[in-house]
Formats: sequence, structure tokens, C-alpha cells
Amino acid sequence: MTPLPYTPAKGYTSPKWARLSPGHTDAPSGGRLDPGQACGRGCYNRAVILAIETSCDDTCAAVVEPGGRRALSNVVHTQTEHARYGGVVPEVASRAHLERIDGVIEKALEDASIVLDDVTGVAVTVRPGLIGALLVGVSAAKGIAYARRLPLIPVDHLEGHVAAAYLAQPDLEPPFVALIASGGHTALYAVDAGGMRLLGETLDDAAGEALDKGARMLGLGFPGGPEISKAAEGGDPSRHEFPVGLKNRDNLDFSFSGLKTSLLYKLKALDEEGARRERPHLAAAYERAVVDALSRKLLRAAEAERAGTVVVAGGVAANGLLRRTLEGECGDRGLRLVIPPPALCTDNAAMIGAAAPLSKAVPFPGYLGLNARSV
Ligand code: ADP
Ligand code: MG
Repeated sequence: MTPLPYTPAKGYTSPKWARLSPGHTDAPSGGRLDPGQACGRGCYNRAVILAIETSCDDTCAAVVEPGGRRALSNVVHTQTEHARYGGVVPEVASRAHLERIDGVIEKALEDASIVLDDVTGVAVTVRPGLIGALLVGVSAAKGIAYARRLPLIPVDHLEGHVAAAYLAQPDLEPPFVALIASGGHTALYAVDAGGMRLLGETLDDAAGEALDKGARMLGLGFPGGPEISKAAEGGDPSRHEFPVGLKNRDNLDFSFSGLKTSLLYKLKALDEEGARRERPHLAAAYERAVVDALSRKLLRAAEAERAGTVVVAGGVAANGLLRRTLEGECGDRGLRLVIPPPALCTDNAAMIGAAAPLSKAVPFPGYLGLNARSV
């Protein structure tokens, strides 16, 4: 793929990362993940999967073992262009993916100490997500797979989020109940050897979206989840009461729109000074309402499905309060709780590689007509 024209940023110093992805001096996160038996460039002598994820605002590539239980590298470049808009701008995301995808893939191979010759299959997110953003990853994956006559493995992003748990705890096996809580999705699934069955989902906003919108109302930055957690430090969560959507409904659905409206009215009732003073308390109470809704329904799902294990995935699973709350609740109930480390909870390609063994590979060259889907 040809990078789009760019103007180097002021003070551009051309580090190695910038050479791989011209015009961007902000280095990607991630890096070497226990390369294990890697013995130097090009001599990793086992089959590996190259995984690519570009469904939203993170340009990601990873190298994962074919069993999907160990990542050799996991490179994530989170696009910072969207911060000023307070949300992801699809066209900006597609363009940024296009500029960075080659460099991110190159770094993933380098971190895993392998070369393209070692790759035996290419896994890529094909749905759901922003269509233009997905197409960048799908096109890159098709190009690499076709040029090397490799199979291509189309992966569902949500199955990827759940599969992150296999990287975190390689001995994990279905059945279990999984909660996916991200910026775009909030849903509960029963996972067994045959796949994932939807148990319940949000009727309006996703949990991450509620946190992002709440943060914006509170005058905090984007993404809102970590910003609200930071603002909530030292805040009293009981000073303000927020509704916990569908709390007493005997179902496994979620609703976060009432919470958002409640924050709006509370802020309207305060003057500027009052809003500033109350910010930590509002943030703490708002965060607690989101965590309460998620943990309540997850535990109800575990009970309904008689599950012994629960998995939490998606960006919101990085939330400290949610993790602490569930550790306590699951401990009390004798449930095994699997929450991947934060870097595997937010969008990344290692999780897509982890889901590859669960998805049907398309042999060369049958995937040329393969399309991405937004839903
Ligand atoms: P998407 O697939 O929607 O891009 P991700 O899985 O990357 O979502 O998650 C992004 C979402 O996770 C954002 O809404 C963000 O606010 C939320 N998030 C990230 N880190 C945290 C955190 N520490 N606490 C709560 N929410 C978080
Ligand atoms: Mg994301």
C-alpha cells in the first residue's frame, strides 16, 4: 500500500518508527512479548499467524502461534487524531490506518524476530467495525496472503475480544460466560465449543460509549474510561445517585442512556464552580453506576448458565474498579474470573490471532472476493 502524502511534523527527528510510518513520530505501544524460542530474524522455525486489526481507531498487528494461546508480538498504534473531536471520525481513522499499517506490520514481525517467510496464515478482522477502517486491514491481509499463497482467516472482532482470554490464561477452555464491554459493544455471551450464543446486550449506548460521553460532559478528555477513573480518585461515589439501567429487570440486557441523561441534569443544576468542585464525586458515582450494571448482569448470567468461569473482555475490562469489584464477587461465589491484562482488553491484533483457530480459514486464492462488514 502506498502511504498518502504527508507533511513531517515540526521537530521531526526520524526515529526508526517514523521511517516505518512516515509523518508520525509517536511510537506505537506494545513490543516484544516473550519471543520464546525465537532465535533471531528469520529463524523462528515454527508456523506462525500474522494477525491484523483495524476495525476502529487502533492500527494493530501481531504474531501469534497457530494454537492461538501465545503471542510473540503485539503492536498497537492508537490514533491520537480523534482526541480533538471527542470521538472517532471514520474518514480520519481510515486514512490514519492506511498511513501506518505497513509500519505496524513490519514492527510486529521484527518484535517477534521473524520474517514474512515464517508466516503460514494471515488472520484479519472482517467485522464488525467502521467499514473504511476494516477495509484497510482486509486489503493489507489479502495482499500479503495472496502474494505468498497463504490462507486467510477472517475473524469477528467480538470473538477476538473473547479470545484475548486464551492468551491471558492458556489453559482456559469453554464453556464459560463472557462479557464484552467496549466503546462499541456491551453484550453477554455463553461460550462453548460450538461458538458464542448471545444472552443479552445493551439496548442503547455501549458501556465505553457511556463513559466517553460522560467524560465529555464532565470536561474530561478522550477516551473517557481512563479519564473518568483518574478524575474519580478521591471522589465520594455515594455523594450523587445515578440510575443503574435495568437493574431490577429479570433479563441480561443493559441500558446506559438514563445514566447519561442523569449526569446531564445534575450538571445543568450546577454553576461552573459547583461543577468543578463536584467533578471527582460525579465521576466516582458515574463510574460506579457503570461498573454496578456490568457486574450485576454478568453474575446473573453466570448463575443462569450455571457457569463456573466468567471472562471479561473489551476496553472497559481495563477498568480498575470493575476488576476489583468482580474479583471480590467472583471470589465469594467460587467463580473463576478471567480478565486479560489491559493491553489485551483494548483493541489489539493478538486477540485476533488468538481467535484464528476458532474461525474457518479460506484457502488461497478464494478470499480475493472477501468483503468487510460494518455489523
Ligand atoms: P472499540 O472496539 O469500541 O474501539 P476498545 O475495546 O478499544 O473499543 O475499547 C475502547 C473503550 O474502552 C473506550 O470507550 C474507552 O473509554 C474504554 N476504556 C479504555 N480503558 C478504560 C478504563 N481503564 N476504564 C474504563 N473504560 C476504559
Ligand atoms: Mg479502540
